[in-house]
Amino acid sequence: MNVNDIRKDFPILDQQVNGKDLIYLDTSATSQTPSVVIDAMTEYYQSYNSNVHRGVHTLGTHATEGYEQARMKVKSFINAKRFEEIIFTRGTTAAINLVARSFGDMIIEPGDEIVVTEMEHHANIVPWQELAKRTGAELNFIPMAADGTLTKDSVEATIGDKTKIVAVTHVSNVLGTINDIKSIAETAHNNGAYIVVDGAQAVPHMTVDVQDLDVDFYAFSGHKMLGPTGIGVLYGKSELLDEMPPIEYGGDMIDFVDLRTSTWTDLPVKFEAGTPMIAEAIGLAAAIDYIREIGPETILAHEKELADYALSRMKSLEGIEIYGPDSRAGLITFNLTDVHPHDLATALDSEGIAVRAGHHCAQPLMKWLGVSSTARTSFYIYNTKEEIDSLIESLKRTKEFFS
Ligand code: PLP
Repeated sequence: MNVNDIRKDFPILDQQVNGKDLIYLDTSATSQTPSVVIDAMTEYYQSYNSNVHRGVHTLGTHATEGYEQARMKVKSFINAKRFEEIIFTRGTTAAINLVARSFGDMIIEPGDEIVVTEMEHHANIVPWQELAKRTGAELNFIPMAADGTLTKDSVEATIGDKTKIVAVTHVSNVLGTINDIKSIAETAHNNGAYIVVDGAQAVPHMTVDVQDLDVDFYAFSGHKMLGPTGIGVLYGKSELLDEMPPIEYGGDMIDFVDLRTSTWTDLPVKFEAGTPMIAEAIGLAAAIDYIREIGPETILAHEKELADYALSRMKSLEGIEIYGPDSRAGLITFNLTDVHPHDLATALDSEGIAVRAGHHCAQPLMKWLGVSSTARTSFYIYNTKEEIDSLIESLKRTKEFFS
């Protein structure tokens, strides 16, 4: 993998911010977009912008083909069994909300248990809190070990015969913990429960095979995997999606509408009411092609190399606290003693370095860590060791400035 060649595909990286070359270390929030993705969307708008599933004219047919081919691409990317199992959504948040509303309301009864973990993004906590409130179910949490991992014992001790849904992240956006989804899915199924996986931080960085993992639902976002904003995916096993009611109603998702009653069309459009994100789906398909050309294993290896390098360099700094396990995805969350993370992020920004500061949409996890916020640096295919060296020098300067 030649990072210098890859960087040429990302026009946004070739700029100065605050008089310094941009160093983008905030991929976990949103990844950058290669020209092929921008071009695919531009081509759609310039030559076949039209609605899908409706017009019989040439542009409409072309748009429908582009949109449905994107679905086929997603299907093969995550190895779903059928294209009907791929629902386009606005993103991970919308996908999880769809499952909680439709599937959750369908199966959860008072006294049932919904199990999540303490490391979840708000997108994988709040919809379950609301489901528990609506239905009278109980919300339980798989506790973490001191290093921010889930042990098999804690998973097995929390999931029981009252558990109906287990909702867990594949990769933590704060700790970088990579959860053993296959094993958690097995425990859930052995107890008669279903598993919903937040894959927002996993799909962009590693091979995800939903059949091998044997997950019931799996959600992810386009904008974290080189694609555009405004599109994401809900994968669901077709036998479950078939039984589930839609949560949005209107055009496209119907089979027949009478003045007082209507029926729904088949999967996947049953869950895609109204005009969908056509250009965004086409952009996502181009992003998948781009990732596949490099290869998810190559991407993971590159990020791991960067994370290991950054970890070893950061550990040698005085007065730094690093959160999360040693074996982690390509992100590092940390605090410098006596420097508020927002001050740190502002200081780094003044040197052209973009990192994230805040609670990372994981306030319960911040509480668990005993902090209100942290800084986070995250890596992707376009990052280099030289950029990490610059980050380390900036961290040193910031530390000195505030001491
Ligand atoms: N889950 C995780 C682990 C995330 O990191 C994010 C985004 O930061 C989300 C869910 C929400 O994704 P989106 O805002 O694209 O819906």
